[in-house]
Parts: sequence; structure tokens; C-alpha cells
Amino acid sequence: MKGSTHPYNTMAKSRIVFRDVIVVGAGWSGLLACKCMLEEGLTVMALEKRSDVGGLWCYTEDSDVITVMRNTKTTSSSSVTEMSDFPMPEEIGQFPKHEDVLKYLKSYCDTFHLWLHIRLDHCVTKVTKDGELWRVKCENGRQYTSKFLIVCTGSVQKPNRDLQHSLLKDFVGEIRHSSEFKTFIPEHANKRVMLIGGGETASDVVEEWYDHVSRLIWCIPRGMHFFRKFAKILPHRHPQALDKASSRVMKFIAPFTRSKPG
Ligand SMILES: Cc1cc2nc3c(=O)[nH]c(=O)nc-3n(C[C@H](O)[C@H](O)[C@H](O)COP(=O)(O)OP(=O)(O)OC[C@H]3O[C@@H](n4cnc5c(N)ncnc54)[C@H](O)[C@@H]3O)c2cc1C
Repeated sequence: MKGSTHPYNTMAKSRIVFRDVIVVGAGWSGLLACKCMLEEGLTVMALEKRSDVGGLWCYTEDSDVITVMRNTKTTSSSSVTEMSDFPMPEEIGQFPKHEDVLKYLKSYCDTFHLWLHIRLDHCVTKVTKDGELWRVKCENGRQYTSKFLIVCTGSVQKPNRDLQHSLLKDFVGEIRHSSEFKTFIPEHANKRVMLIGGGETASDVVEEWYDHVSRLIWCIPRGMHFFRKFAKILPHRHPQALDKASSRVMKFIAPFTRSKPG
């Protein structure tokens, strides 16, 4: 059951609810944390500020809410991305679209009965430690206490604008952060655009921008190795998701290399 219509979401504001574990955020990490803690026999409550679960994978056009882009598909294949005890369905394809990832995460909540342990529209505004107990306050006035606290608020929820004040401080052109975009912006049509960074959003920007700008310069400060999503590994078989095989190789060579292989 989803959203503020859930009876648990309309509980009296004044009551301070106790759980063994409070999880802040119900994106991929928060849902996983919630399920694993329940399996340990602990009581859990995941507090999510948005009206739905899924974090970045819960796409919205609202530019104030950071999500993946309108056309994002996963960069890692389903066999590498899926949770080990909850395989992605075959029909989702090798590199699922964001809406299918969200469906997958919601069916994870259904299968492991997580909805009862999630409160949507609960933005955590303050967390304090009082002796052995965590005290958690939400914007809507609700309060919780717990023995343990797991923070799953997302490592890419806040744009990192450091370069604007350091490396790019003398740059005279217009600087925009990718978090402002959900898709290609017409202001960039036929312009020279330099893209800094080599993460997943950068890959999305390259795909969307490439055909529309006069020149796209992609600058990745610490370098990056690229490989194709698919490759014919065995001559008589269809092309395979390359990261499935390469992730095993990476695991093997990672201890011997100083930078991230792959
Ligand atoms: C474009 C793009 C493509 C990606 N592709 C892949 C991929 O192919 N494979 C892969 O493995 N990873 C990929 N990622 C990485 C992605 O970060 C992870 O897949 C995953 O979504 C991270 O989940 P999370 O729960 O840690 O964070 P998030 O998804 O960011 O979730 C954090 C949650 O915390 C909530 N929250 C934040 N603050 C509060 C608060 N104060 N109170 C309550 N709730 C709060 C947010 O609303 C959100 O729901 C991609 C990322 C991007 C941006």
C-alpha cells in the first residue's frame, strides 16, 4: 500500500514511536536495509521524505527533486544490478529503463512485506543521540526513537558544486550542474559544451547531448576506462552483457591495481 493513504501514515502526531532501527530514506539502500533488519528479527521503520519509494529511480519532471533522467536505463546489467535474493524478471531486459527499476523495487517491497514498515512524506529534519537512544524528528511533527539508526539518504542527492569555486572559478562561460536537467535543454543546441565528470549522469548527458551540440568535450579528471554494454563473447551465441563477465575479472584484479579497473 502506497503513500499517505496508508492508515499508519495518519497516526497521532504527538506519540513518540519506538523501533529497534530507524532507516532514513527509502531508496534502493533504505529498502535493502529495511528488509535485512527485519530478517534479523528487529523492529524497523523507514522514513522517506517523498510520497513514494525508490529514491533516484522514482523519476519526476520536478527539477527540484533529484532523480535519474527521463531516458535513463541502468548502466550496469540486470544480472549485476539485481539483489542477490530477488532476481530481476527476464522481461525487464539486460539494461532496464528507470520505470522498470522502480517497478522492481516496489515488487521487492510487496514480496518482503516492507510497506508496513515505511512511512512516506516523512522528511527527517533532526537526529540527536540521547544516551543509548536516537531521537528522530520529522518535518510533519512526527517523532521516533530507536536503538540504531541507518542513514540511506543517497550519496548523489546533493549536487557537488566545488569545481565552480575552484578549478572553474575563472571560467567565463555559463556553468550548469547536471542535477538541473532531466533531459537535453534547447539552450545548448548547436553550442560548444564541455562536460566534467565520468559518472552515470555524465553517460546519460553524453547520449542525450551528442546529437544536438556543435561540439561536446568530455573531461574526466581522474580518467576512466570504457567498455561496451554488449559483446559477442562466444561466436555462436547472441551478444552478452559484458559487465557480467568483466565484474568477475574486476573482482580478481582489483586488489592489484591502484585505480578502479573496468
Ligand atoms: C543517472 C544515474 C544512473 C545510475 N545507474 C546505475 C546503475 O545502472 N546501476 C547501479 O547500481 N547504480 C546506478 N546508479 C547509482 C544509484 O545511486 C543507485 O542505483 C541507488 O539508486 C542509490 O540508492 P540510495 O538509496 O543509496 O540513494 P537514493 O536513490 O538517492 O535514495 C535516497 C532516498 O533518501 C530520501 N531522503 C533524503 N533525505 C531525506 C530525509 N532528510 N528524510 C527522509 N528521506 C530522505 C530521498 O528522498 C531518497 O528517496 C545511478 C545513478 C544515477 C544518478
